[in-house]
Amino acid sequence: MRPDAPRKIERAMDVLVVGGGPAGMACASACARQGLSVTLVDQRASLGGAIFRQPVGGAAPVPQPASSRQRWRRLLADLTSAPGLDLRLETLFLGLEADGLALIEDRNAGRVLSLRPRALVLATGAVERILPRPGWTLPGVVTAGGLQVLMKETGRPPAGRVVLAGSGPLLLAVAAQMTGLGHPPLAILEAGDPLRRWSAGLALIAHPALLREAAGYLATLARARVPWHRGAVLRRIAAESEGEGETLVATWTDRRGASHSLAADRIALHDGLAENAFGLPEDAAASPRRPLVLRIGDCRAALGAPAAIADGTAAGERIAARLASPTGRQATDAETEPAALARHRAAQGHIARAFAPLAPVSPADLADDTVLCRCEGRTVGDLKRLLAEDEGLSPRELKLSGRFAMGACQGRFCAANTAALTSSLTGATTPFAPGAFTGQRWPIRPVPIAALAAPAPAPSLPDESQT
Ligand SMILES: Cc1cc2nc3c(=O)[nH]c(=O)nc-3n(C[C@H](O)[C@H](O)[C@H](O)COP(=O)(O)OP(=O)(O)OC[C@H]3O[C@@H](n4cnc5c(N)ncnc54)[C@H](O)[C@@H]3O)c2cc1C
Repeated sequence: MRPDAPRKIERAMDVLVVGGGPAGMACASACARQGLSVTLVDQRASLGGAIFRQPVGGAAPVPQPASSRQRWRRLLADLTSAPGLDLRLETLFLGLEADGLALIEDRNAGRVLSLRPRALVLATGAVERILPRPGWTLPGVVTAGGLQVLMKETGRPPAGRVVLAGSGPLLLAVAAQMTGLGHPPLAILEAGDPLRRWSAGLALIAHPALLREAAGYLATLARARVPWHRGAVLRRIAAESEGEGETLVATWTDRRGASHSLAADRIALHDGLAENAFGLPEDAAASPRRPLVLRIGDCRAALGAPAAIADGTAAGERIAARLASPTGRQATDAETEPAALARHRAAQGHIARAFAPLAPVSPADLADDTVLCRCEGRTVGDLKRLLAEDEGLSPRELKLSGRFAMGACQGRFCAANTAALTSSLTGATTPFAPGAFTGQRWPIRPVPIAALAAPAPAPSLPDESQT
């Protein structure tokens, strides 16, 4: 194939939905019920997304609240009964070319396919925010969400002594799930103090389901006597020898500034959720051949599973209306947030206020040897030195000369923290966005050259030349 030869279009469809979590499943069902042809892709081998992650290898499912089990059953029933839906698992969305072709990688077949959807729905969920701290890249330091995935997939709790640290309700959920599996964590170090944020707590009375869920977690943890230290800041993690092996030591300060330490085998960090929007195409219609592009669910705003389902369902109806109108395909969708989301957004706002750290650590106060970019081993000190030489360096110059966001992850994991530190060190009036370091380009994940070069299969539906 000549490098400039157009890739063969395998098929055209009305809607390509990326992400088989609650938002993507709800949207795909809604679109199919409106009579649209829909392809739903997910990188994983099973549907469910973050919250309904399925057990693997015959493992027993982790106990879930009845409301959550019911939600999952309904989503699955709606999807499996939706007419003519094309489901592709272990298939990764790579990006949207300027002329409107969507590229997906079929990992089973080992090839990249080009699709031409009239609407592209991005439902790629959220990612955990992890703030840098000295020692956060040591072996044995993981994310709390990572531990939760491990439990959901294996049905077993993580082994050894576990400390959960950072901030947010997910720490309570993970601790309660570990406890439910018979292995409570040593302690939770929570930087906020939701029990003292009265106004946020009172506002949550309007959201009884969330309060019930929180009360369930707290009761489980109280019965198992798991310490929940609030106003506790994890200052650093170190590896120390213990007997013939090594242990991690978490040093933390309480709300009065007194220092404490805890020895553990694993330290699980979590500092909140953020939209998983890395490298995703923008909503703007760049050319008439480009599809309508929508973001839904946590990828638009991390508001939780019920909001993701409401967003997905509403998007399905909106897409059908847009595609039925002659100009709908060229429209953008940046303006719309369904009214049903307002309540969820308000609830998440109250939760964020309740868990806001009592004494936030400024990135500029981190020790110089704190790693910022783990792919390239670049530190806080490296960034400070570059900016001390020339405070006017742009994010792109910092990237090129400092190798921040330049490694294998291309900034997926370090760009937000590097942007925050750069903003703090330069006193930027408008904080730098992570995108200033990552840029906007596809593929959004590394793709093997063999998969790009593999010939496309014969079309199973009429290709573009026939439509
Ligand atoms: C780590 C973590 C733990 C959480 N724990 C809880 C909890 O305990 N309780 C709670 O109420 N909520 C929790 N949430 C929030 C909850 O999971 C979400 O609100 C809900 O799942 C959002 O649904 P969604 O469909 O928008 O995204 P998700 O459920 O995240 O689904 C996104 C899907 O997109 C797929 N995907 C992503 N990128 C690509 C790509 N390029 N190509 C193909 N597929 C792709 C993913 O594999 C995934 O299946 C958690 C979220 C995270 C990230």
